[in-house]
Amino acid sequence: MSQEQQSEAREIALTALRRVRDEQLTSASRLSEHETREILSYLANGDTSDSWYGLLTHELDLAPAKNAAPDWQISDFEGREGFEVLVVGAGLSGIAAAYRLNQAEISFTQIETSHTLGGTWWKNHYPGVRLDTPTFGYSFSFAQRTDWPHQFAEGHEVREYLESVAERGNMTDSIEFNTALVSAIWDEKLNLWHATTRDADGSEQVRDFNAIITGVGQLDHPFIPEYPGQDTFAGVQMHSQEWQHDVSLAGKKVAVIGTGASAYQIAPAIVDDVEKLAVFQRSAPWMLPAPTYHNETSEAFRWLCRKVPYYGQWFRLWMTLLGIEGRIHTVTAEPDWEGAPLSVSPTNEKVRQEIIGMLRDQLNGDEELLERMTPSYPPGAKRMLRDNGVWSKTITAPQTSLVSTGISHFTPSGIVTLDGEEVELDVIIYATGFRPSDYLDPIQITGRGGVEIHDYWDGDARAFAGITVPGFPNLYMLMGPNTGGVVAGGLYFMVERAVEYALKSFKLMFETQTQAIDVTPQALDQFIADIDAENNRMAWGQPYVKTWYKNAKGRVSQVWPFPITDYWTITEQVNPEDYEFLR
Ligand code: NAP
Repeated sequence: MSQEQQSEAREIALTALRRVRDEQLTSASRLSEHETREILSYLANGDTSDSWYGLLTHELDLAPAKNAAPDWQISDFEGREGFEVLVVGAGLSGIAAAYRLNQAEISFTQIETSHTLGGTWWKNHYPGVRLDTPTFGYSFSFAQRTDWPHQFAEGHEVREYLESVAERGNMTDSIEFNTALVSAIWDEKLNLWHATTRDADGSEQVRDFNAIITGVGQLDHPFIPEYPGQDTFAGVQMHSQEWQHDVSLAGKKVAVIGTGASAYQIAPAIVDDVEKLAVFQRSAPWMLPAPTYHNETSEAFRWLCRKVPYYGQWFRLWMTLLGIEGRIHTVTAEPDWEGAPLSVSPTNEKVRQEIIGMLRDQLNGDEELLERMTPSYPPGAKRMLRDNGVWSKTITAPQTSLVSTGISHFTPSGIVTLDGEEVELDVIIYATGFRPSDYLDPIQITGRGGVEIHDYWDGDARAFAGITVPGFPNLYMLMGPNTGGVVAGGLYFMVERAVEYALKSFKLMFETQTQAIDVTPQALDQFIADIDAENNRMAWGQPYVKTWYKNAKGRVSQVWPFPITDYWTITEQVNPEDYEFLR
């Protein structure tokens, strides 16, 4: 908007606010179809396509018919009352599944390996844990919250949110905690899954289900690199996800191995307690400026959320809208770009230079450190962190050393680097990430023809829309392969849409009076070809880039590279041509 338009907009807003105050106006709790279309098309810059409109109404609390809720219940289909679903997991995916299954009154059993719900948000309780995406984009469309205390929520705030959604939806009591899915075998005669579950005491039970929805997370299995002499280290070693709060760091010599999203939160949170901090960096991280990263939501913002009807809901919608295409344009590679391998396009180079400039300021012109802290890969090729200066402050603290030579081996008293220097340590923290490519590990899932899913994948997990896998009928993955939005979109949207897709496919089965549906290999191949082509155009898909977004086969199996309107489209209906129907 021009300055003039901004003034005009403020004037209009102020008039409206005065009327809210003086005339005690309230806002309609539902908009008409016409009003919704008019407002949303304005917000979407005139784009009235089904996917934009559909996506935005999906996320807008005030939309006339929130299209995500199933418009049917199982009792609408004669003879299907016994249809039984297994939901595996009670993290945010499992909660989304339970919520929608309840709406359709479909009977289900929900199991959770842990003793509590919340998934990654109860498991990760290391110092400093918080969201690194804006809080307002991190909630269910069906359970919106407007009184978030922080702009980037602290870990416990997200966990408490998930607990409250489960409580309010009466979901908690029916979850079978401390129960793991060990294996599932598809019965080709009966068209159902025989699932073996194991309780905390080790006893196993075989139960039959018509369908399985897995919500087992993706960043769940800690990865700890192996080094010679690791076992001889006399101090404490722990992974970021297995934080031992009884280990005091006060006055200790501490190493943090890794400089990813977890390390970025841990190191600044502990630096003031420790005697010495050694940060072992294999590659430097790119950090996006986020000056308010640790800030609370402002009093003015809270006031607006409290006093102006639906302000928070509109704000959330606005965040969603900005995330539809997100920063895709900054990471799209230009063929034959001469700046490779440091950047992938002129825009990407501009981002690179801007961030280097920001770092230079933070480091007060320490060019040697700047060089070591400048990544040697394009911005966006790995997950970008949020920076409000705390990382540089931590690294330049007198008690910190940034160790950027590789690790040779461990000794009882510390770590020896490749250039022979020994770093003395009491505690070693592995912020070395996870095994994200090991989808569904360690569950054994045997589908049609006796094929086990990991054998079928052979190290390269693939699923149609990240949800269904050929040969494994009535199996639905949430947060499956290629559904991670790294520069666009949001996790909740992807998970919710996958749940909705599963329900739509149940409906299709009921309507066609079939027992199961199995996605065709052709549908999967086409989907993967489209995904791969797009990922290969992105910074992370470049052949010279090493990133955990790629699996052992070198394929980018984590990322959804398109705007999320495309995910809305692919999950909007279950196309019968993509499936084989089993009777
Ligand atoms: P990560 O991003 O995979 O970072 C792992 C770090 O360990 C990297 O710096 C990596 O170096 C280093 N590393 C791995 N293997 C190593 C080895 N053998 N020797 C030396 N260094 C090694 O893991 P993470 O930080 O746990 O984050 C994983 C993901 O979890 C994030 O991308 C994000 O999606 C999620 N997460 C989210 C939040 C949040 O929202 N609040 C917080 C934490 C994590 P290279 O870069 O050289 O591989």
